[in-house]
Amino acid sequence: MATTKGSQPCPHPTDNDHAVRMVIILGFLFGAFIGSFLNVCIHRLPRNESIITPPSRCYACGTRVQWRDNLPILGYLILHGRCRWCDTPFSPRYLIMEIAVGVITATVVALAFHGSLPDHENWWWARWPWLLFPREGMPDHGLDFWYPTALIASALATASMLAVVYVMVVAVMTDLDHMIIPDEITLGFQVVAPYLAAFGGSNLLGLDWTTLPLLVNFRPGADGHGHIVYTSTPFLGFVLLCVGVAVALLSLSLRWMREVYSRLPDGEKWHEQDYAHVRKATWWFLATLVLPLLLMAGLALGGNHFQGTTVVAGPTRLSPTTVEVAWPFLVVPYASAPAGLAQAILGALVGWILPWGVGLIGTRFFGKGAMGFGDVKLLAAIGCFLGPIGVIYGFFAGTMIGAVLSIPIYLWNNKLRVPFGPYLAAGCAVVLLFGSAFDRVMGLLLNLGS
Ligand SMILES: [Zn+2]
Repeated sequence: MATTKGSQPCPHPTDNDHAVRMVIILGFLFGAFIGSFLNVCIHRLPRNESIITPPSRCYACGTRVQWRDNLPILGYLILHGRCRWCDTPFSPRYLIMEIAVGVITATVVALAFHGSLPDHENWWWARWPWLLFPREGMPDHGLDFWYPTALIASALATASMLAVVYVMVVAVMTDLDHMIIPDEITLGFQVVAPYLAAFGGSNLLGLDWTTLPLLVNFRPGADGHGHIVYTSTPFLGFVLLCVGVAVALLSLSLRWMREVYSRLPDGEKWHEQDYAHVRKATWWFLATLVLPLLLMAGLALGGNHFQGTTVVAGPTRLSPTTVEVAWPFLVVPYASAPAGLAQAILGALVGWILPWGVGLIGTRFFGKGAMGFGDVKLLAAIGCFLGPIGVIYGFFAGTMIGAVLSIPIYLWNNKLRVPFGPYLAAGCAVVLLFGSAFDRVMGLLLNLGS
């Protein structure tokens, strides 16, 4: 990290390399176990079976799988992919999933921890966007200050990122298998997503709407760097206004929904229970946002203000491209939990309203169901992590990926119907990985406009 360079040499480069390797290996092993569990979820959740009991059994002969055969990857290899008792082959998909989730986990862990380890400038991912560990323009606090807090923050960020990734894996696979994204996954994740996103510190990326000039004061420091201080009352008012508008839009949409779906041809017409389901899911979703909203308001009014999360390097003019957001909450002393919560709440609302609105309008104009409601519930939860701007990027990136891939898929097999969920997840993953690139493009466009 640039700030510590020169102030203190890297203490133990070899220890550090060793630590990184260990973290990656442990990440892979942990991920393989999780992959094994996700296999169970993917198989059982769409069938409305419990994911806890009964323990794994052979689907052919019903014999309970022994613990040693149940070890991820190894179990499959030892048995050559067959049941120990009846010799029925298991799908290689179980093995592939365990390896894939292991690799994904190791990658996330490595990326999340790189910034908390010294001397990471040589790493190819040193500019990893969502690991917004302060790299430049920071006052020099030295390594002693950053190292331990950075580790804690990295652990939190890893947990929060892995949660999103695992949810997306299950959603994608069940959607491909059964055209279902299970409510157990989406509705449950909606409850925890705002806190994971805000305190995991992963969601303060995306075109930084929180730096709207009306809402912040910029305080330049002596060296030309400085931080942004949210002016608490206008900011809180702004967020509450957005929430109010969103709730009004949602309740209007519930009325309009009946008119739209009653016009569909007989086979696709919605039943009374479909309307009831959407209404219930909408109120559930809004209920999950009440506590984060109260927490945000309480923290803001409790005297902390929306303290600046943002450290600006270089020119003092506020623009999306010059603003770099630093870690919220733990690492950076100017941490801002309220800003993270606001980002999560508005991200969730946009993540719900965007696909739901597009779906309603599409259904109205094309005369057939245009959007699965499972996608709406999923994107709302992911929206907490992407923020209100990032979730828009994610939705349109998913739509683009779907549009591009649908041509070769159609040519390959024109009967295959690929659901939107996997494209949506892919779009969101692209934004999680390359969100800052989207920002740069948007920043350029906005600057051209002005
Ligand atoms: Zn068997």
